[in-house]
Order: sequence, then structure tokens, then C-alpha cells
Amino acid sequence: MAYNILDVAKDFVKGELEYAGGQTELDRLDICGTCDAKVAGMCTACGCVIHLKVKMAKSECPMGLWGPVLTEGERSTLDD
Ligand code: SF4
Repeated sequence: MAYNILDVAKDFVKGELEYAGGQTELDRLDICGTCDAKVAGMCTACGCVIHLKVKMAKSECPMGLWGPVLTEGERSTLDD
């Protein structure tokens, strides 16, 4: 299931909300900026506010145009 606003709220409460980071956010915004699903700053495919959606590490485009990035916890697991 896609990472949605309820997941964001749960991660925030648990102190586990992670951000994608500057360049990833910009890359995602570039893709959304050319997408027909973007209407008035909203993604009509998922109903999210795009400038918030692109900030979350676990977010992904519902049409597969961009995906989640590794969170800090996932990166540290790979380093082990
Ligand atoms: S999240 Fe995906 S479908 Fe939605 S506006 Fe961005 S590129 Fe388009």
C-alpha cells in the first residue's frame, strides 16, 4: 500500500518521519512539474499536495514516475 498521510502522521508521532533531502525533492518536483496529473499543486492520481509529498523519504509516485529513497534506518542496516 502506498505511503499516505496517515503513515506520515504515524511516523511523525513515533519520531520516525524521514525526509528525502534537497536534490531528491527537486528531482521529484521536476517530474511532477511535467505530469498531467498535477493540477493546482495537487496530484490528482493520489490526492496529495505535491510540495509536501515530495519531501517524504517513503513517498512514491502512484504512476511509478519516481519512488521512495532509503531512510536513515534502512541505510544503516545495509552498512552492517
Ligand atoms: S506524484 Fe506522480 S502522478 Fe502525481 S503529479 Fe507527481 S509525477 Fe504525476
